[in-house]
Formats: sequence, structure tokens, C-alpha cells
Amino acid sequence: MISIFDTHAHLDLEPFSDDFDAVIRRLESGVFPGGLVPDELEGKTIEMAGVLLPGIDGKSSFRCAELAKRFPVFHAAAAIHPNYVANATEDDWKIVTKLAYDENVAAIGETGLDRYWDHTPIEQQIDALQQHIDLAVQTGKPIQIHCRDAWNEMLPILRRSVQEKGLRGIIHAFSGEPEQAVECIELGFYLSFAGSVTYRNAKFSPLWEAAKVVPSDRLLIETDSPYMTPHPFRGQLKRNEPTLAAMVAFRLAELRGETLEQIAETTTKNAKLVVSSQ
Ligand SMILES: [Zn+2]
Repeated sequence: MISIFDTHAHLDLEPFSDDFDAVIRRLESGVFPGGLVPDELEGKTIEMAGVLLPGIDGKSSFRCAELAKRFPVFHAAAAIHPNYVANATEDDWKIVTKLAYDENVAAIGETGLDRYWDHTPIEQQIDALQQHIDLAVQTGKPIQIHCRDAWNEMLPILRRSVQEKGLRGIIHAFSGEPEQAVECIELGFYLSFAGSVTYRNAKFSPLWEAAKVVPSDRLLIETDSPYMTPHPFRGQLKRNEPTLAAMVAFRLAELRGETLEQIAETTTKNAKLVVSSQ
């Protein structure tokens, strides 16, 4: 039995609305979408120990908190995603702020900086990130950070917030190089790896190297469902699902010279610590 904890899945979003019950059933029985059994997991049984659902705006954060209330396997995070900050209303902020203090909400996220997409000016993203950092500090909950092509802006903010305010949390779908991984680890963050670490394209090799430098007690896995479907199912499945986090665990095991069981056990233990640490 391999126990898997997916620390980032957007199951409240539209791609899951048509067959949500089937997704839940698969998740509860540890079955892969499409009945697939990858060679890597032949003969292994998967048990989902938990799934952390991050909010992307007020409504989404509310849905995640409701799901966490209904299903013990789910944990919720509340925030306005950096790409949606420009469109966020006063209501979004009110809902997120209220949810931050809700007992069904385990973390503040996802928040951060994104220079890949151009949906929100970076100054506005930085301002929103600061507000989320304050919420995390005030509530004593961990933060879940999204950082895409914005390490130069992100690292000084995190450094200051850790040193001055005691911020702690997760870097979700870590996409940096080994030096950035080391810096985040020194700041006390957990690093969560997603499908990208399974991709075989050489441009991901700095990420493979980063996955090797993370101490076991800071390692997490995630799917970022419905996005980032892991190899070899990318292009084969129309969307990602939480059970496929097992493929990320498999890849980390391969890169780090550990067994799948070891990776699953340590990442699940770490994830449980994070979601219960408020
Ligand atoms: Zn996300």
C-alpha cells in the first residue's frame, strides 16, 4: 500500500464539474483515470492520504472550504491567485479574509507571482502577495506560494517575511534551479514537486537537479490537477487527477535513489504536518 498526499489540486474548477462524483470515487479507491495501470506501479495499491485544494478567488476558496468540510480526504486553502488579482473584487477579498480564519481552511494559497502570464501587473501581484503573507502570519497558517519566472522578486519578499514575521509554508509546483531550492529550504519552506519533474525534455534538467538537493523532511508532491499531467500520460489524458501524484513520487524516487515507498511515506508525513500545523 502506497499512501499519497497531493498538496495541490484544483478539483473545484470547471474541468471537474461534469464527473466530480466519479473523480471522488477514483480518488477514494486509489484508481488512475481511464483505468490505466502504469508499468511503474504494477502490483502497487494507492491510498490517497489527503488532497489540499487551493483557492484561486473568493468563490473558488469558498468551494474548497465546503469540500474540506464534506470529505475528510480534502483540506482547503484560501487566496486569490496572482493571475486573478487584477479581476478580484472587494467581495473576493472579504471572502478570502473571512475564510483565512475558518477552521476548515488549513492554509493561505495559492498566492504568489507570475511573470509567465500577463494577466495582472507585477506591482499589483506583489501587493496582493503581501496581503496574503499578512493573513498567513495573523492566522498562524502556512502559505502556499506560486512562483513562475519571478524568483528575483519572490526571494527577497520571502526572506524578509520569514525573518521579520515568521512566515512559513510551501513552494507549490517548484520550478526553480538548485540554488533557488537551497535558498527556499534555508528559509524553512517545503518544496512541492509536480508533473514537470517527470518530463523528459532536457530543459527540465535543472529541476531534476533541484529535486535531488531537497532534504526528505521538506519534500512534497502534487498534481496541480487539472494541469501538468505527469509523464507518460501527458497528451494521453484530457486532464490530471490526484492519484497521478504517485507518478511524481515515482520520478522523485528515481532521481533521488530512493524507493517509491520511501518517497510516498515521507511526503505524506510532511503534508500531514503542514495541513495540521495551524
Ligand atoms: Zn494551482
